[in-house]
Formats: sequence, C-alpha cells, structure tokens
Amino acid sequence: MGQKFSAAQLRATVSSIVKAAGSSDEEARTVADNLVLANLSGHDSHGVGMVPRYIDAVLEGGLKPNASIAVKLDGGSLLAIDGQRGYGQVVGEQAMQMGIGRAQESGSCVLALANAHHLGRIGHFAEMAVAKGLVSIHFVNVQSRPVVAPWSGGDGRFGTNPFTVGVPLAGQEPFILDFATSRVAQGKMRVAHNKGVQVEPGILIDEQGRPTTDPGVVVVPQPGGFFGALLPFGEHKGYGMAVACELLGGALTGGGTWHRPADAKRAVINGMFTIIVNPAKLGTQASFESEALAFVEWLRQSPPAPDTDGVRLAGEPERQARREREVGGIELDDQTWSEIVAAGTKVGAQVA
Ligand code: NAD
Repeated sequence: MGQKFSAAQLRATVSSIVKAAGSSDEEARTVADNLVLANLSGHDSHGVGMVPRYIDAVLEGGLKPNASIAVKLDGGSLLAIDGQRGYGQVVGEQAMQMGIGRAQESGSCVLALANAHHLGRIGHFAEMAVAKGLVSIHFVNVQSRPVVAPWSGGDGRFGTNPFTVGVPLAGQEPFILDFATSRVAQGKMRVAHNKGVQVEPGILIDEQGRPTTDPGVVVVPQPGGFFGALLPFGEHKGYGMAVACELLGGALTGGGTWHRPADAKRAVINGMFTIIVNPAKLGTQASFESEALAFVEWLRQSPPAPDTDGVRLAGEPERQARREREVGGIELDDQTWSEIVAAGTKVGAQVA
C-alpha cells in the first residue's frame, strides 16, 4: 500500500520539516530539492525517506543545521575541506563548487571533503561537474553503522561506500555511473522492509552470518541486538573497491574510517575524495569528445540480449525515471510516509 505525491508536494513537506528543525529557508529548500530529485531519479533509498533519520540526527546533535564548509587547506588545485557535520546536500555542493572552480582554472582539482553529514545521491555531485564539461571521480565512505561484510567475512565491518564517475559526452546526456559498493544500497533494504517484501538471494547474511532474503536483518535489531549484513557487489573485486572508498574517502580526507562496534547514533557521516579533470586543459579535448562518442555509439549497436531492453549507458535509467515521475508522481509506501509525518511532529511541523 502507498500513495502518490507530486514532486512539488514532497518538496514543500520536506522543506517545512527541515526548516522546523532549525535550518534557514535556503538550506531547507536545498535539502528538499536534493532528496526529491533522488526520488524522481528512481532512488527512493536516498530520497525523502531519509528525513526521519536526519531529524533524529539533528535532535541528537550529530547533524548541524546551517553549517558551512571550513577550508582546512587551500593548495590551489588541492583542497582539504571539512563539512563540519552540516547537511551533505549543502556542504557537498559548496565543496564541489570550489573544486569545479579550481578545475576550470588550473585543469584539475583533488578535493578531500571530510565530516559531511549524509551526502545523499553522489551522482548529484558528478552531475554538477559534467554540467561544466568536467570529468569527476568520487570515492565515498560512510560512518553510520558497519552494514557491509568484507569478502569472506561473516559480519558487517564498513558502510555501503559509494563510488561514482561522471563523464560529459559532447552534445549528449552524460555518463553517470553511481553505485553503492554493497550488492544493493542499505536504503533499498529499508524500503523493502517497509513494504514487507523479501529480497532476492545473495544480497544479505543474517546476524549469524547465514544467507537470508529478509531485509529486516539490516533494518531492525535481530535476537541479541545484533544486525545482519549486506554483501559487497562483485565478489572480491567489489569488496576491494569498498575498501578503496574507505581508505580514500575516510582515511585520506581526514574524516576517519570505521573501526568500532555499531552504536545507536543516527547521524550518517560521509567522507568524499574527489578528482575533477578539465579535458579542455588536458589537451585531449578533441579526441576525448570524438572517441567517447564513437565508443558510446559502438556500445549502442550491440544487439539486445533476449528478454532485455538492450544496452543502456549509466545515467540513462535515472533520467528516464525523472521524465516518468515528473508526470506520474512519486509513490511512497505508508510506513515511509507515516515516519515522515512523525518526524514533522517531533519538530513541530504540521504535515497533513
Ligand atoms: P544501482 O544499483 O541502482 O546502480 C545505479 C547505477 O547503475 C547508475 O549509474 C545507473 O545509471 C546504472 N545502471 C542501472 N541500470 C543500468 C543498466 N541497465 N545499464 C547501464 N547502467 C545501469 O544503485 P545503488 O547501488 O542502489 O545506489 C543508489 C544510490 O545510493 C547512488 O546514488 C549512490 O550514490 C547512493 N548511495 C549513497 C550513500 C551515502 O552514504 N551517501 C551510500 C550508498 C549509496
């Protein structure tokens, strides 16, 4: 069961709750726009369903409304920035704007962002860079709960550590590869649990390390208070990539890595290590444009495999979802909606 909302309705609801929790009008609008865009893009796991968690984190003191970035090191094309536990939607954009400016001036920027609260859909930041004709690569770690098991491990040791690459394609929509290094995003398990459905095999282990299809094992405490874990994608290779995200997004940014038992804190802290490259300054712009287009065209000529819609390029599913959901609306399950209403009540916002 669920109900449909327009993007505008959800933006108004979310911004009123975020504002009631202490944010400026502008911050509340930015957070709402970002979360609703995630829903529109088909990633409900990173959409308005995050609001209850954000409100709990504000009330606990782990998420700081109206915080801005602090520049810890300005080395020109080398930036170390602290997000000061501000809304990731805000400090993430501030940091990327600086990094994009440096890459436009000097050709590249290495941007280390530490201590941002949940950055949401990392593809959003790649989309900011490609809109300016820049390539961007992001390695992100997540400090909230160790919900992903290492390859051959029996319990969760790190987060869903997303990895993202954005590549502009001349005259076409960009390539935006943006995924969690777990088999699926943790938020998708919350959505499945709220809908009361099982997930496919091979994604989860329970609190005793046994395979399960019950998404609840990573959403609600299991017997003994323990949680199960998600498995990494791509076997040992995806696991290695998740570790790279922790080492770069966590250790190298200065934000820190996860190496302690789970706690009940509600804040979700992201570290993001970003590399931005300006092809125009690299001297390869002409061949980059023509070779990238030639390759993409070549891919698209592959005959569709049986029972598929044929070859797609990363970024296309999100853009298609946006076109459909802008018109058809965004469906939220009843549990997610009632949690949003309850979050509003906690901070005195009236949500109908
Ligand atoms: P996913 O498994 O849906 O994969 C998404 C990626 O695969 C996209 O780049 C998409 O364009 C591409 N894709 C999907 N179908 C395709 C097809 N048929 N052909 C070609 N490409 C295709 O994503 P996910 O792992 O569930 O991650 C969802 C979101 O969660 C991402 O935006 C990620 O940044 C976000 N996330 C954020 C955090 C955080 O802490 N901030 C943590 C984990 C994930």
